[in-house]
Amino acid sequence: MQAGMVIIGAGECGGRAALALRDLGFEDPVTLVGDEPHLPYERPPLSKEAMAGDALAIKAIVSDEVLAERSIRHIHSIQAVAIDRAARSVRLSDGSTLPYNKLLLATGSTPRRLPMPGLGPRCVYLRTFNDALAIRAHLKAGNRIAIVGGGFIGLELAAAARRSGASVTVIEAQPRILMRGVPAEIAEIIHPAHEAEGVNILCGEGIATIADNGAGVRIALVGGRVIVADLAVIGIGAVPVTALAAEAGLAIDNGIAVDAELRTSDPDIFAAGDCCSFPLAVYGGRRVRLEAWRNAQEQGALAARNLLGAGETHVAVPWFWSDQYGLTLQISGLSDEGRSTVRRDLDDGAFILFHLAQDGRLVAASGIGPGNAVARDIRLAEMLIARRAKPAPEALGSQTVKLKSLLAA
Ligand code: FAD
Ligand code: NAP
Repeated sequence: MQAGMVIIGAGECGGRAALALRDLGFEDPVTLVGDEPHLPYERPPLSKEAMAGDALAIKAIVSDEVLAERSIRHIHSIQAVAIDRAARSVRLSDGSTLPYNKLLLATGSTPRRLPMPGLGPRCVYLRTFNDALAIRAHLKAGNRIAIVGGGFIGLELAAAARRSGASVTVIEAQPRILMRGVPAEIAEIIHPAHEAEGVNILCGEGIATIADNGAGVRIALVGGRVIVADLAVIGIGAVPVTALAAEAGLAIDNGIAVDAELRTSDPDIFAAGDCCSFPLAVYGGRRVRLEAWRNAQEQGALAARNLLGAGETHVAVPWFWSDQYGLTLQISGLSDEGRSTVRRDLDDGAFILFHLAQDGRLVAASGIGPGNAVARDIRLAEMLIARRAKPAPEALGSQTVKLKSLLAA
């Protein structure tokens, strides 16, 4: 068999990389290996509105027809189990072997498991379309849903579950929701929005015991309270999928460690998306791992270019969004790089917090508001961050100074 490009992981990043290779004119074989039974698909709808709708349809990134037209071989429901770097081949779970010229690892991340006894079939995680289908079957009026973790999965799913009429309790160990990466001022808008919709949020509450009898779950909290639910959804973060890379002897550092061109410690193997950590140029090469949709797309496309020898570095500014009820949160940059914030109020109660480093450089912008209220200004902030701009705080905070004018400056 002629070796070509092999991509392990048929998710957002792997799917985009396969398509990009063809867009770039690559004509040798492209093989995409995924352990899920589906075409590459979008995960963001799985915790949002789609969960409360009439039916849950998969939102595929590409159709079978397009894969066939573009001669991309998609091997589904099969896991890559070992990489033989000397032989340049990948062993698959069906016993077959796939040769490669260059390999891309786009293995994504997987839910962090709650390390407690007592979990059973009514304690579930949300990562895949099949997970979403199973959870959705329980989202109906009269059912009680307990959500462990007040992060993005937990809160977006809480909103969807309320739409379906189920009662919802969110249990968060930290003193507030969205503790990681979202400023308190923004969490203070999101928390009451959930309470107004009837979500019961319990912060600063550790779990003492969980008992799942197969028909329901009883969660005893350290403070003495007991939550009884038909289903417990656990959303306590995600960990990168690195076992395949680690067993092949590739360097691991909070994910598969890659350089700015997404190359691993083996020059013929690249990694991209949720599974890798990389040096981020805009923050002086700080090594980060991003779990975000746009990053998976951008790195999939960049990996394709670099598999073909472009030698380009990853320069994008991180960005992600979250939808809860009518509110959209958007964050650009890394807010933990900031030492002070400036607030800019927009129409309809929307606002943006600009995060400034010690030297006045704009390092992040966090915004919240109805619908798309913050989208344009967050996009402009992202351009300022990319330019390492040091805009005057008074200008950032003034509604009468257009952000666009700061870009021109
Ligand atoms: P993944 O999408 O996880 O794909 C990796 C694939 O590789 C998986 O199918 C996995 O099963 C497969 N795989 C792993 N190991 C192997 C192996 N050895 N052999 C074969 N296949 C393998 N981000 C945002 O910015 N905004 C959002 O609103 C948002 N909402 C989200 C909602 C949900 C419910 C989830 C789960 C994620 C959300 N994200 C969101 C995050 C975003 O979806 C991820 O960052 C993105 O999917 C990462 O893409 P990826 O291709 O790197 O990994
Ligand atoms: P997350 O955003 O990291 O949130 C997990 C939350 O659970 C954190 O607040 C965490 O607190 C808390 N937690 C950890 N251990 C706990 C425990 N034992 N009991 C109670 N709470 C606990 O992760 P997630 O919401 O699970 O999301 C998983 C993945 O999906 C991530 O990759 C995420 O990016 C992705 N996703 C993204 C979006 C979006 O961007 N809009 C939407 C949905 C999903 P600590 O900080 O203390 O650990």
